[in-house]
Amino acid sequence: MQKIFAANWKMYKTRAQAAQSAADLAAGLRAMPEGQSVMVFAPFTAIGDVAAAFNGVPGLFVGGQNCYPAAEGAFTGEISPAMLRDAGASWVLTGHSERRHIMGEDDAMVARKTVFALENGLNVLLCIGETLAERESGKLHAVLERQLEAVFSAMPEGLRGEALEGRLAVGYEPVWAIGTGKVAGPVEVIESHAAARSLLQKFAGETANRLPVLYGGSVKPNNASALMALDNVDGLLVGGASLEAQSFLQIIGA
Ligand code: PEP
Repeated sequence: MQKIFAANWKMYKTRAQAAQSAADLAAGLRAMPEGQSVMVFAPFTAIGDVAAAFNGVPGLFVGGQNCYPAAEGAFTGEISPAMLRDAGASWVLTGHSERRHIMGEDDAMVARKTVFALENGLNVLLCIGETLAERESGKLHAVLERQLEAVFSAMPEGLRGEALEGRLAVGYEPVWAIGTGKVAGPVEVIESHAAARSLLQKFAGETANRLPVLYGGSVKPNNASALMALDNVDGLLVGGASLEAQSFLQIIGA
């Protein structure tokens, strides 16, 4: 299984700051192990700078944090997959909890974005995850199922099965663990990742065993290796602790 370490820089960093962090990451990741990818989801303004700093380093990629499901048009403030690719991105995040819960994106919109991005040449890291109230009321499985079903039921024939390998990864992020310092415990992570894997098998068949499932939520250098050792954890999605290149490099090296 491909291992993925993903940085989500959210709404942080000027172009110069992003270029410096990307250069530090590139310097630290010149000898990327086979089967491992590292990607940075940068602010739109910095995608070109990050792509330039990563140029020629195998296994290092840049992505956008959002895109709109249309080729072009009167969608003020939005950005298309083609624009992201033009800037140097090869990946995009969809369904991040901050998009779902602050910007009000529903499952149907996340599904449209995911499918349109895949159809238009971007690889997608699709984020799913439950709120604390949903977990406490025993709805974990139902929430993950609803979020994944929305996407997979919108997938056209050409994006089923093997066509998704290397193009789709899933980020499981319990909403209550994002940016809160509360990392999910091993029992919770194992339970959630097992649920995500079995739901992926339901929706994508055997290909599900080759779709990486990343854990995200208050990952730090001191908990990364324990998280990576858990069943069905194929990588990490890191927000706050990815802003400093050295801290993200420690997480990748852990
Ligand atoms: C995220 O933004 O996806 C995230 C997991 O953030 P943090 O690592 O800061 O919790």
